[in-house]
Amino acid sequence: MTAVDPALRVTVRVPGKINLELSVGPRREDGYHELVTVFQAVSVYDRVMVQAADEWSVRAVGPYADRVPDTEDNLALRAARLLADRAVEMAGAGTRPGPVALTVEKKIPVAAGMAGGSADAAAALVGCAELWDLGVLRDDLEPLAAELGADVPFLLHGGTAVGSGRGDDISPVLSRGEVHWVLWVTTGDGLATPAVFAEFDRLHEGQELDLPSLSPQLVSALRRMDPDAIGTALRNDLQPAALSLRPDLQEVLDAGLDLGARGALVSGSGPTVAFLVGSQAEALDLSMGLAARGPAGDILRVTGPVGGAAVVDSRGARLRL
Ligand code: ATP
Repeated sequence: MTAVDPALRVTVRVPGKINLELSVGPRREDGYHELVTVFQAVSVYDRVMVQAADEWSVRAVGPYADRVPDTEDNLALRAARLLADRAVEMAGAGTRPGPVALTVEKKIPVAAGMAGGSADAAAALVGCAELWDLGVLRDDLEPLAAELGADVPFLLHGGTAVGSGRGDDISPVLSRGEVHWVLWVTTGDGLATPAVFAEFDRLHEGQELDLPSLSPQLVSALRRMDPDAIGTALRNDLQPAALSLRPDLQEVLDAGLDLGARGALVSGSGPTVAFLVGSQAEALDLSMGLAARGPAGDILRVTGPVGGAAVVDSRGARLRL
């Protein structure tokens, strides 16, 4: 057994994501819909600190901490425990790693369609692998990530990527440079992803859905990083369901487009609304315009794509298992 030394700790920074395209197909036998989505990791980050401890625990600090569970349901804690369970078989660790205390600095809006919980799970996998010195590659963590949730594999890698299947079969999209986004985030209740899919099912009852598909226009626009072409190609099949549950989002979309956004959509299951702009100056103008005009919400200026979960600080020697 290794004595617990709380000075051993690793901090991982992980971004949130938005969906530039979300094409929803028929429901599969396992209950998930067949999806094709284009994810982009954007520059709003959580930090997850992993520290050797006597007991498993998780706590959150920061702007959205009050919406994060400190129970076994927390996805970061589930990720750390899952990796501990698999460490011996995956990495040949001599003993099962002991508990960790996780601290999540929560800056990614919660229940906002930005995959914040999945991001923290990806960060916990990367942080624990480093703390426990498992010597595994990011790709080795992918199957565990997929077990934890459909968005987790993408957040291990970040960038811009196409997700298919449940969204967890990832392939990178080649692109150069970056684009600017303004995000409108609700200050009220978020939307639960299952509720949005249930509303999607209700709106499509009796219809036969086509297989989901990727728009060639979007892929070509991303290759060129042309904001107008990307703006025109943005698409989210879940948007009508999100608007049906939150009709106020239409006003947000209209306000941003009136104020000159090059494109707009509800991100993922919402209720975050993403506006594409052409430059940092346009981002500043749009965010000030939205703030002046309402509707009330938090407004973030971000860029994408950015990299996925990455160790930013590693203190003390690593644990030898
Ligand atoms: P999706 O991945 O479907 O886009 P989302 O971004 O809409 O999800 P999250 O921010 O991941 O939503 O939060 C969804 C729910 O997950 C929250 O209501 C919360 O109860 C739970 N949750 C579990 N662990 C975490 C975590 N580490 N951070 C935030 N939420 C968490």
